[in-house]
Amino acid sequence: MKPLDKDIILSQFTQRFGGPAAWVVRAPGRVNLIGEHTDYNDGFVLPLAIDRAVWIALRRRPDHRVAVYSVDYRQDGAFDLDRLENEKSGWLEYVKGTAWSLEESGLRLAGWEGVLQGDVPLGAGLSSSAALEMAAARAFTAAAELPWDPKPMALLGQKAENRWVGVNCGIMDQLISAAGKADHALLIDCRSLETEAVPFPPGTAVAVLDTSTRRGLVDSAYNERRAQCEAAARFFQVKALRDVTRQRFDREADGLDDVTRRRARHVIGENDRTVEAADAMRRGDAALLGQLMNQSHESLRDDYEVSNDALNVMVECARRHPGCFGARMTGAGFGGCAVALIDAQAAADFVQRTADAYEKQTGLHSAVYVCRATNGAEVV
Ligand code: ADP
Ligand code: MG
Repeated sequence: MKPLDKDIILSQFTQRFGGPAAWVVRAPGRVNLIGEHTDYNDGFVLPLAIDRAVWIALRRRPDHRVAVYSVDYRQDGAFDLDRLENEKSGWLEYVKGTAWSLEESGLRLAGWEGVLQGDVPLGAGLSSSAALEMAAARAFTAAAELPWDPKPMALLGQKAENRWVGVNCGIMDQLISAAGKADHALLIDCRSLETEAVPFPPGTAVAVLDTSTRRGLVDSAYNERRAQCEAAARFFQVKALRDVTRQRFDREADGLDDVTRRRARHVIGENDRTVEAADAMRRGDAALLGQLMNQSHESLRDDYEVSNDALNVMVECARRHPGCFGARMTGAGFGGCAVALIDAQAAADFVQRTADAYEKQTGLHSAVYVCRATNGAEVV
């Protein structure tokens, strides 16, 4: 698929509404390099905003109506800002939920009409939903001529997803979609929400490897993992596992049952690895970053037990390529995507050979995207 750009979305707008659009906004999907299942433990994550995004072209309306055409669903949707009703499903709820959340925070919004189109694959673990929320938030702030501040907007997007759409996600997806920086990953402290942009080691690229398997039991397994982490935090008498050092864990963890101990060991080790990975990036050390990603996968597979066969095979196939520094599953697990750090010069060969090897070994289809780190939500 040809990547979306400003011209494409502008011509969609003109076809639909006749006249020109006043603004074009985009908000990217994301992939997490390292720091998995750490967000709800008040820990660290290291995602990048990718060059696949949700785009909206829009112009203001004189009334309080929001009218959106979804190019991907070939569907019109509309609602009134003064009478927001939750219809419980469908793409429009992400836009409406964002309006609800912004209005709840005291912002006064204006009506607009626009077209919506994206090239973040849906449900693949690249967070098309957060991209849509942040694109909607950027569109609402543009139309109402409100200032754009990525952090509070990310929190409002998360609130829309938690409370309007009803998905219990952390802050990572919206924050990286709102605040990403080109050619950098973002180290996020999920407790303080402090962020630091860290550059990619020179000559490296990021590949996202979709296993084409999809999470089935992910919600119940996710809730179970969260409960286990909370139990471990109670055992250590801390607010969250973020507050337990590796040294303390090694001294005291014998008092935990086997499963809870392994869950805690993943989270505590993963936090350290994530901080170390950011440091490796600052020093341009691709080899160390790759090793840390490999260790993260082993920990998610063996201690946290959220990988699946397809992800394990994909990771093995990726690592077999000489241009691969490291690879791991990314996202909540039980299917979806792996992520690899690769030598940019070898990217085309890596894509071909890894996809071939995976398909041969599993009989499953795969999709591999080489990504560039882009800016977060913006008017373009
Ligand atoms: P993901 O892992 O991609 O975030 P979700 O199930 O959380 O998966 O979100 C996917 C939903 O977001 C879609 O079902 C759709 O309602 C909405 N969505 C994402 N991208 C678009 C788009 N380009 N156009 C319309 N709706 C979209
Ligand atoms: Mg989502």
